[in-house]
Amino acid sequence: MEQQTRYDLGKREEDGRYPVTVDSVPVGTVHRRHGSWYATMPGRQILIRFTDRHAAAAHLVTMTDAGIRPTIPAPADTPASGTAPFDATPAGIASQTYRHLLPDLRLTLPNLVRSVEAMARLDQLGWTPLEGYPGADQPWRMECRLCGWQGRRFWSHLRGRNGDGIPRPANRHPGCIPVEKISAQLIHLAADRLSECRCDFQHPMEISYALSVLANMNDALSETSPVAPILYARPLLEPCPASARRANVLRIAYNRRTAALRSIR
Ligand SMILES: [Zn+2]
Ligand SMILES: [Zn+2]
Repeated sequence: MEQQTRYDLGKREEDGRYPVTVDSVPVGTVHRRHGSWYATMPGRQILIRFTDRHAAAAHLVTMTDAGIRPTIPAPADTPASGTAPFDATPAGIASQTYRHLLPDLRLTLPNLVRSVEAMARLDQLGWTPLEGYPGADQPWRMECRLCGWQGRRFWSHLRGRNGDGIPRPANRHPGCIPVEKISAQLIHLAADRLSECRCDFQHPMEISYALSVLANMNDALSETSPVAPILYARPLLEPCPASARRANVLRIAYNRRTAALRSIR
């Protein structure tokens, strides 16, 4: 008979991590690297190596019993990683997974800002990214919201030539709806967009919040833990109906931060 444990190991995710719940509460993940097992709890540092996944998971029980909890909500409501962002959960848009937007994304502050801007513009153009922003001149996998087609487009084509803002080609992709119907459909989609974030998880709509996200992300990126940056990326990469405002606010915050850093040098 299987021994009763207080932890449950979920299914292995595409990034190799197994989600762990303790007494049914999501607390973190375990993963294997170079023959050892590691436990992670969002926002906490665990430097111990374990011989197997169960020992790693049991350590999360020990931490829980010591009153240690994730300092950032564990990504319990972001079940699937990989390239299927539409595993829509009843909790709605704020709980859609965002981790599929990370693996290919080069994590630097300027690149994140560009990525958030590109994603906001994709929203307006009726595209949903299926993987992380790869840079302007790399093929980017996305889904056409007008017809459901999935394939690769170049951001440099979508944003327009020399910054003219006119996406190309005019027919979007082979097999899309007729060109003359596209703008009416995009206007229809625009009804979903908001100027305020009303998500359960707050996305930055104010410069002060955007500045703190950038500062946290910068700290996380300069450490060795691979976990923290992923979590700080959540407010930036998660789908939000106010993505245009988020991109604007983030750009202003980033420019301000850059100017401030320059002035103290
Ligand atoms: Zn289409
Ligand atoms: Zn939001």
